[in-house]
Amino acid sequence: MANPTILTVDDDPAVSRAVARDLRRRYGDRYRVVRASGGDEALEALREIKLRGGQLAVLLADYRMPKMNGIEFLEAAMDLFPLARRVLLTAYADTSAAIDAINVVDLDHYLLKPWSPPEENLYPVLDGLLELWLATPDPTASDIRVVGHRWSAPSFAVRDFLTRNLVPYRWLLADEPEGGRLLAAAGLTATQVPLVVTADGTTLVRPTEPELAAQVGLSTAPTAELYDLVVVGGGPAGLGAAVYGASEGLRTVLVERQATGGQAGQSSRIENYLGFPDGVSGAQLTDRARRQALKFGAEILSTREVVALEAAGSGRVLRFGDGTSITAHTVVLATGVSYRRLEAPGLDELTGCGVFYGSARSEAPSCSGEDIYIVGGANSAGQAAVYFSRYARHVKVLIRGEDLRHSMSSYLINQISTIDNIQVHPWTEVAGGKGDGHLERLTLRDTRQGTTQTVDASWLFIFIGAQPRTDWLDGVVARDSHGFVLTGPDLLADGQRPPGWPLARDPYHLESSVPGVFAAGDVRASSVKRVASAVGDGAMAVSLAHQYLETQ
Ligand SMILES: Cc1cc2nc3c(=O)[nH]c(=O)nc-3n(C[C@H](O)[C@H](O)[C@H](O)COP(=O)(O)OP(=O)(O)OC[C@H]3O[C@@H](n4cnc5c(N)ncnc54)[C@H](O)[C@@H]3O)c2cc1C
Repeated sequence: MANPTILTVDDDPAVSRAVARDLRRRYGDRYRVVRASGGDEALEALREIKLRGGQLAVLLADYRMPKMNGIEFLEAAMDLFPLARRVLLTAYADTSAAIDAINVVDLDHYLLKPWSPPEENLYPVLDGLLELWLATPDPTASDIRVVGHRWSAPSFAVRDFLTRNLVPYRWLLADEPEGGRLLAAAGLTATQVPLVVTADGTTLVRPTEPELAAQVGLSTAPTAELYDLVVVGGGPAGLGAAVYGASEGLRTVLVERQATGGQAGQSSRIENYLGFPDGVSGAQLTDRARRQALKFGAEILSTREVVALEAAGSGRVLRFGDGTSITAHTVVLATGVSYRRLEAPGLDELTGCGVFYGSARSEAPSCSGEDIYIVGGANSAGQAAVYFSRYARHVKVLIRGEDLRHSMSSYLINQISTIDNIQVHPWTEVAGGKGDGHLERLTLRDTRQGTTQTVDASWLFIFIGAQPRTDWLDGVVARDSHGFVLTGPDLLADGQRPPGWPLARDPYHLESSVPGVFAAGDVRASSVKRVASAVGDGAMAVSLAHQYLETQ
């Protein structure tokens, strides 16, 4: 197969030649570098690459071009190659346009001209983007196929699992010819979906998550019985703890019940994480953190839910749902929080069939040209609104109060106000949902008047706050009345150590009521509920685990 392409477009011939020269010097052996002198010419080149079945890795577009500016070009190019990484070349004076482009065309980076020396300003950016592009291959070229129904909760669960674990797959509808052919070949009928066909032709009918994980190359079994550190939960706090634990020589295993990334993995763009001035998608951050943890030698187990914790002498025993267990000298609880359910008649039955908790990125392309409803007024709802506005005809954000000012960051409120197809509906809540097999209608209630109206609706995405799922720690680790794990100073009531605390020192800052068991990130009482603080907690918990081990 021909090398993938890096395309650069600039109307200034000298600049265009210089960019192409620098790109060829570093990437010419692995990538085809194509240059164009305007948006039209570049789009023509992209159409040719598409027709030939070629791959496009990165687009670099100059911002100031006559006829079609760089942002307009990148927007058009997204229709042909949505997975290519996008870079805008700008002069210093145009940086605000570049920042706007981050949202319009999901820009990965903007580079200020001149970019010399390329070793400092160009290659590190391109290296990162190419690495990312290689790690998220085009799902249409994937060998894993999923056959299912559009409105089927089990089909959604399989797609959501693969998407969140960054496993590319091809989605085929059971009532379309190719899907039908695969079902027939597997001896199945359309009622037996979802069917998963892997690269080597293995077929899985309605697979469980562990079955699916094992087939797509995710580890599910620990390699040892005893570890220095077990991290429970694979969100930013858990991944942070795994990176610091493994890099500092602790034998570390991270156990994740579903997909690494946690809540952050569902974020379409995290704008406020240090070191990413252009924002970073949750998937991108997760992918990097995951690889970093593996590089340092941490083990990562997927689809394994920890259901119990016991202290056995100096060992800390963690039990899985299937009765097996692992033991460690120290534990970091990084189990985060999960979305609260929206209590309204009809919604439970339709969950996964038009009603979704979180942004369910796998569904976005299916919403093309349709109206979608989002419930919630916090940043997670705002990010989802921006993300879905690229696909949906209208995005209707329902909030119970007057406006978003008290619940959403001002940068997101500003962004939303500039996107024409997002409408915010104040004083509105969902009173119920109805549909035959999938969501068809919503009842909306005016929170001031109490009046209701019924609207046609096929898509509802719910973001209404979250709660920790820590029932399994009941009676073992002290928690507050909401279920958040108490640590350090929060455990000292009137200066008294928690009941049963066996040591002659106070609990360390992130230590729970069981010595050697730490809590990090959103699950910890008094935590800040941000990616950066979760990662910081993960790092600090490892440092405290070292202190604990030294005194054992
Ligand atoms: C859509 C969205 C957008 C957001 N945007 C931003 C943003 O822009 N900036 C920002 O700073 N913050 C943002 N946040 C908040 C941020 O993502 C969280 O604060 C952060 O993810 C918390 O990290 P955590 O590791 O503590 O927990 P989580 O991210 O909740 O991860 C916990 C993990 O533990 C796993 N788990 C739970 N129980 C078990 C168990 N018993 N066994 C094994 N595994 C278990 C879960 O499956 C999950 O993967 C956003 C959140 C959402 C939902």
